[in-house]
Amino acid sequence: MSPQQFSTEPRYWVVVPAAGIGTRMGAGRPKQYLTLGDKTILEQTLTRLLQLPDLAGVYVALNEHDDYWAQLAVSQDKRISPVTGGSERADSVLAALEALAGQAQENDWVLVHDAARPCITADAIEQFCNQLARHPVGGILAVPVSDTLKKVDSALQINQTLDRRFLWQAQTPQMFRLGLLRSCLSRALAEGKQVTDESSAVELYGYQPQIVEGRADNLKITRPEDLPLAQMILQQQETCS
Ligand code: C5P
Repeated sequence: MSPQQFSTEPRYWVVVPAAGIGTRMGAGRPKQYLTLGDKTILEQTLTRLLQLPDLAGVYVALNEHDDYWAQLAVSQDKRISPVTGGSERADSVLAALEALAGQAQENDWVLVHDAARPCITADAIEQFCNQLARHPVGGILAVPVSDTLKKVDSALQINQTLDRRFLWQAQTPQMFRLGLLRSCLSRALAEGKQVTDESSAVELYGYQPQIVEGRADNLKITRPEDLPLAQMILQQQETCS
């Protein structure tokens, strides 16, 4: 595989992994279905992604036992196709890419964005796409690490302080060409590699994705204390818009 030059204008597809069960939230339902403002977290996220100009379609990976999706009004949106996800996030993303492959071109862009990151703004998504539009590989939204990072052993004793000048915290969206991402992700999973985001799959086979600087308020809702924080961020975004 090598980054190629493409003659036709690529389209933009969105994949939303939403098949997790969110155990770290300790809530009675998967975190993407918790209420944030006047909608669920997943609806807040999708509302923002659906504003992307030139959007070709959205694939949402759902848990095989999902009972909530069909109850959401957004499930009726014709631009969104649900697919069954897998046991890890990467399996869910790959399932969506396989479904997408029947409809999209190899050189189309795919933006992967976590269901649990509802504070991304439509403007930030558009700027991110514009910045990567001519990149041969693709890239990710990320923020520079601001805390000092410690490497520890299993007893939580510090072994090393890492040089944070070259450390960035990966977020989503992450955007790659469908063909490249699908082949790297399926190869990585077949080889039993640890893949926690799309970029890591692409990096494994020698590609260098581009970092696009994002904002710390694009937080991933993971723990109960993240929910009021996300609420405040959304309120502040509404005030400023
Ligand atoms: O658990 P974590 O917060 O890292 O999950 C990130 C995203 O991946 C969430 O939107 C979650 O629903 C999704 N996910 C998935 N399939 C899994 C596990 C997580 O789609 N098997």
